[in-house]
Amino acid sequence: MYQADEQRYDKMVYKRVGKSGLKLSALSLGLWHNFGSVDEFENQKAIIHQAFDCGITYFDLANNYGPVAGSAEANFGRIMAGDMKPYRDEMIIASKAGYYMWPGPYGEWGSKKNIIASANQSLKRMGLDYVDIFYSHRPDPDTPFEETAMALDQLVRQGKALYIGISNYSGKQTAEITKIFNDLHTPFVIHQPRYNMFDRHIEKDLFPVLKREGKAAVSFSSLAQGLLTDKYLNGIPADSRAAKSTSPFLHPKQVDETLSTVKKLNEVAKKRGQTLAEMALAWNLREPEIASVLIGASRPQQILDNVKALDHMDFSPDELSEIDQILAG
Ligand code: NDP
Repeated sequence: MYQADEQRYDKMVYKRVGKSGLKLSALSLGLWHNFGSVDEFENQKAIIHQAFDCGITYFDLANNYGPVAGSAEANFGRIMAGDMKPYRDEMIIASKAGYYMWPGPYGEWGSKKNIIASANQSLKRMGLDYVDIFYSHRPDPDTPFEETAMALDQLVRQGKALYIGISNYSGKQTAEITKIFNDLHTPFVIHQPRYNMFDRHIEKDLFPVLKREGKAAVSFSSLAQGLLTDKYLNGIPADSRAAKSTSPFLHPKQVDETLSTVKKLNEVAKKRGQTLAEMALAWNLREPEIASVLIGASRPQQILDNVKALDHMDFSPDELSEIDQILAG
């Protein structure tokens, strides 16, 4: 039987989520990949245990994570019903609705029908009474934000979610829906955008809005799905995401296109005495609006490697401008 490491809270940094009362571990674990029905269950358990032993408290899921869609929540539910059961109150568990989940007009986007039905399905799959954060996974151009916000608010009133988040909303959309959440007194606390060295679009668009509103972000694909690590420096390993047929989101072409930049970034990381993955995570965390960086992991060792980012988080102005220059090409 798994017993959590007693020193787990000594190793991690916890950051307050904007002006809310919620704190998140600076690194958090995402279950988009590696937790599906195509993946080995024992490895999934080992990854969750390793993360928790490192002081990671935030576990990020969504209705459609797998493959097959829904299987990541089902597998996570099995783990929660077993070894992790005693630790439920030490964990922040999140799910989301918005991307395609089931056929017909109610299986995706931001209608009340989708949000409520999807949240109920997620709770059932995970065997939980409530999630700590429930997100609208993407803005719906056809549903008024009032409807999406009120559906999310209802989940809180019903005790099915403690906090609300949004993901993939632009700065303008965030400002708009925040106003509605404020009127409803919804505990909307967090945004989940893509942010990494290769994708900095939120710096000008979203960060100023979050700052003004007292909200924070948890960044996804912080390692650009593994591109911002040293794993592809000498080709594409057979057991990597870029080589997997079950992972259509990272193509070998992207590895080729980014390789020369990655090599240069890797040199900067070496000079700082850390790996490229550690530097990429620390770089995200330098932004005051980032409360936590999500990482995916295909094996427990990657978690151990990535938490070392916390050992060296500061950047000198020279290092930051060298990184900027490399990224500018
Ligand atoms: P990352 O950018 O963290 O990439 C994770 C992958 O990088 C791992 O699966 C592994 O790939 C590789 N990796 C991780 N650490 C190391 C290391 N130390 N050395 C070498 N390789 C490493 O994240 P994801 O794109 O997976 O996103 C993370 C989470 O963010 C998701 O699980 C999900 O929760 C969330 N997310 C949210 C989205 C949204 O729309 N809200 C969209 C996308 C993600 P390999 O398999 O090759 O070993």
